[in-house]
Amino acid sequence: MAFDYDLFVIGGGSGGVRAARTATATGASVALAEESRMGGTCVIRGCVPKKLMVYASGYGEVLDEARAYGWEIGEGRFDWRPFRQKLHAELDRLEGVYRRLLDGSGVEMFDARARIADPHTVELSDGTRKTAKHILVATGGRPVRPDMTNAHLAWSRTTSSIWRRCRSRS
Ligand SMILES: Cc1cc2nc3c(=O)[nH]c(=O)nc-3n(C[C@H](O)[C@H](O)[C@H](O)COP(=O)(O)OP(=O)(O)OC[C@H]3O[C@@H](n4cnc5c(N)ncnc54)[C@H](O)[C@@H]3O)c2cc1C
Repeated sequence: MAFDYDLFVIGGGSGGVRAARTATATGASVALAEESRMGGTCVIRGCVPKKLMVYASGYGEVLDEARAYGWEIGEGRFDWRPFRQKLHAELDRLEGVYRRLLDGSGVEMFDARARIADPHTVELSDGTRKTAKHILVATGGRPVRPDMTNAHLAWSRTTSSIWRRCRSRS
């Protein structure tokens, strides 16, 4: 049976992008659908923005320490708006890197939500159907509160809702 692709990956996060690129290296024809932004949780909502925010938060302390070592530094003030602009510019840059890596590997990209219609068919949000010998679901995960003592102390919320609130407040 002839398929459109050897592999169709649903989800353009760390897992999906890596799997797609590795598969093309073996000569497989690969497509990938991402409903949001290429790079997924790590690049767009998780590891990268978290680290940049943590780095930004550390400078106040460094300035205080520098004063203790004789540096004359005026009153500094953190301004969320310029930081947010630079943060998003960096996320845009990284998303571009991911897109170029996929493109350079020959992965066909679809900016669309995908669902499995049958074991060899993926349906995109515009109704287009693509067939593949293999379908990889790399759609990430959600936090689960474990059944253990003091589990109620854990705080969990979907990161996308946190991110939406951050963006709407700025
Ligand atoms: C705040 C935070 C900080 C983190 N910090 C670190 C860190 O410092 N170091 C580290 O190693 N890990 C970190 N992680 C974990 C890391 O982000 C995840 O392990 C990693 O992103 C998982 O990759 P994934 O490809 O499985 O899923 P994801 O990156 O979540 O990718 C899944 C993708 O699938 C897409 N998708 C979902 N459903 C569909 C659909 N039906 N059709 C099309 N697309 C769909 C989503 O839009 C998403 O882009 C952090 C996570 C969070 C939340």
